[in-house]
Amino acid sequence: MPERTIYLDHAATTPLDPRVLDAMIPYFTTEYGNASSIYTLGRHAMQAIDSAREQVVDILNCRPTEIAFTGCGSESDNLAIKGMAYASQKKGHHLITSPIEHHAVLHTCQYLERFGFKTTYLPVDSYGRVDPDDVGRAITDQTVLVSIMYANNEVGTIEPVAEIGRICRAKKVPFHIDAVQAGGSLSLDVAALNADLLSLSAHKFYGPKGVGILYVRQGMRLLPQLQGGSQERGRRAGTENVAGIVGAVTALRLAYEELPQVEPRIIALRDRLIASLLTIPGSYLTGHPTERLPNIASLCFEGVEGESILLNLDLLGIAASTGSACTSGSVDPSHVLLAMGLPVEVAHGSLRLTLGKANTDADVDTMLEVLPGIIEKLRGLRG
Ligand code: PLP
Repeated sequence: MPERTIYLDHAATTPLDPRVLDAMIPYFTTEYGNASSIYTLGRHAMQAIDSAREQVVDILNCRPTEIAFTGCGSESDNLAIKGMAYASQKKGHHLITSPIEHHAVLHTCQYLERFGFKTTYLPVDSYGRVDPDDVGRAITDQTVLVSIMYANNEVGTIEPVAEIGRICRAKKVPFHIDAVQAGGSLSLDVAALNADLLSLSAHKFYGPKGVGILYVRQGMRLLPQLQGGSQERGRRAGTENVAGIVGAVTALRLAYEELPQVEPRIIALRDRLIASLLTIPGSYLTGHPTERLPNIASLCFEGVEGESILLNLDLLGIAASTGSACTSGSVDPSHVLLAMGLPVEVAHGSLRLTLGKANTDADVDTMLEVLPGIIEKLRGLRG
């Protein structure tokens, strides 16, 4: 076994920052009260949640009452889309999204289609970018929500969300941004983004798994998707995950405080990976060359299966991803790459390397030493 894992899959999840764990521990041990209880222990829990909400306000440029804590990024997406769709049925049954969204958005729209909603899936260009003018053209008087991601989780392309939001605002159609992959690295100023709803997930920015954040602009009417107590101002029933909420907000705060130091280093590592890997014959960069997340290097290699690359890397203690979904034993090429117009054969050879704050130049060196040989070997086996 290799001595240490070289972890290059931060878009899948990130390790918990030890400082975040420290902030969470009291809420697992001494401060275990239920935030709905009126005695001191309960009030402490409620104070911790209130204080967490206050800490988000500066980063999102919003009011504390506009923040709802959920159980994950997928739940935030579901609540935003189903909650808005079901609450707006008097207006219409039309949704707009793109084909490169995460399944938390795509499958939610498909679910709603079973109940009479219609979805327009806007085209994307070869970099995976939505044209804001297409959003404007697709909006009808029946449209109840536009949902477009901030940055794509497979190829890292950043969408022109502020411009899309401007168009939605002018046409009085609510706009949801799935910012799960952008959280911790791109600006989350909801006013500048013209967002009405915005989803985040703590485990993508060194926070705990199982905690999501949903920004809901004041005045948006949302039908809750969990029935029960009146927690989160009636938007999300269930006893609050106090430790998780404290951890999520601590992680978000640290991410933005440290971004000026962390980001240039990660961009340099990413660019070195991309430049070197593109010298391998039959390799292509996927996603936008400049408008991309700082930490995502995504490529396709002709004549190899991405999964075979992953298995070979794993033997050497390197964790990476293809970005594609594995369904019932067969490995389908990524819906994102196909929507961007890549041929199926090329899309099969995808590799996504996503950097984090603990990665070093030595990690990148190791990757660059081993990957060309792995690809050559796999191509040899095929041909
Ligand atoms: N949206 C995007 C863009 C994602 O990348 C992910 C997770 O990979 C999700 C939503 C779902 O988040 P979670 O894993 O917290 O449910």
